[in-house]
Amino acid sequence: MKDTFKHKGLRQKLVNVLKDKGITDINVLNAIGKIPRHLFMDSGFLDHAYQDKAFPIGADQTISQPYTVAFQSELLQVKREDKILEIGTGSGYQTAVLCELGAKVYSIERQQELFKKTSKFLPKLGYRARKFVFGDGYKGMVDEAPFDSVIVTAGAPFVPKPLLGQLKIGGRLVIPVGDNVQIMTLFIRKGSKEFEKHEFGEFRFVPLLENKN
Ligand code: SAH
Repeated sequence: MKDTFKHKGLRQKLVNVLKDKGITDINVLNAIGKIPRHLFMDSGFLDHAYQDKAFPIGADQTISQPYTVAFQSELLQVKREDKILEIGTGSGYQTAVLCELGAKVYSIERQQELFKKTSKFLPKLGYRARKFVFGDGYKGMVDEAPFDSVIVTAGAPFVPKPLLGQLKIGGRLVIPVGDNVQIMTLFIRKGSKEFEKHEFGEFRFVPLLENKN
């Protein structure tokens, strides 16, 4: 588990790439500049860790592209101490970004292999989610609701109702919606039954699957 000057230099370059692509939230950029993304990937991919690309992390899943992580994190408008539900822990990289932003993170993963690996690995780096749950994110985390925000990091064929229902008033759900291609979508809860919806263009994610595995 080494982080070197070379890695730090590559990270700074990645931060500049993200700025050029339009990411402006300084806290998000600082988090990405700080987190050793190469440690979240298999050794075979270490050289690719600071390219703005998604890569395999095992169990047919991917670590999201840095731009996508930055874009979703920016849409959440995270404030310190925000209580955030993450669906799709995966490698834990997005979880680490949320922790760096000062959020209290509750994260769900449906692949047991990834769940075990990541829930052990993140604390070693000093990132402590409030809860890691092995389960089905379609249902949210009812016993911890309501949340300031919910982030979904897999492509959802539809918007799961429980995720909207578990938002505080004023809370934000950031979710890529669609089958082969997803539209990044932000819902803001305006009242108990009122939601504002904003759409932000196309992204590609692995699918949000039902039931745990
Ligand atoms: N944020 C992660 C993205 C991983 S890819 C990262 O950057 O590493 C999406 C993840 O969502 C996968 O790990 C996949 O297993 C998980 N996933 C898919 N459907 C899910 C569901 N219904 N509930 C919880 N996790 C799910």
